[in-house]
Amino acid sequence: MSTMKVSVVTPDGPVYETDVEMISVKALSGELGILPGHIPMVAPLSISAVRLKKDNETHLVAVSGGFLEVRKGQVTILAQSAEIPSEIDPERAKAAKERAERRLKNGPKDNMDSKRAELALKRAINRLNVTGM
Ligand code: ATP
Repeated sequence: MSTMKVSVVTPDGPVYETDVEMISVKALSGELGILPGHIPMVAPLSISAVRLKKDNETHLVAVSGGFLEVRKGQVTILAQSAEIPSEIDPERAKAAKERAERRLKNGPKDNMDSKRAELALKRAINRLNVTGM
């Protein structure tokens, strides 16, 4: 089966580089499945899990949004943060989730705080989902 190169990159450097047969992402516009030979495109991503499929195995990467860029034979996912499951500390994600929930429950001081807490909550839930917790 044909494959394409995929790199997941953050400001700290590459998180994951591999050849895959299919990539599934959650773009802001909805789910996207990318196969080798896909036309070039750029799409903004949700806080979500990227699914990388090869040899009947699916590898997950948690991304905090960012962008998907498809070029000929090469896919790049650029995000502020991205983790493979083994790099995720579930206790830290649980603590972040509880902190964000407390902030939302206690009534944030302004809209900005509320938006930040909502995004932090989504990142934490996404990390826990990716670790299977
Ligand atoms: P926290 O409040 O725990 O820092 P956060 O969602 O605010 O969570 P980010 O700003 O998205 O964290 O990420 C900052 C850095 O910490 C990134 O390099 C990210 O990969 C890493 N990171 C965040 N949460 C975790 C986690 N639970 N396990 C491992 N690395 C994490």
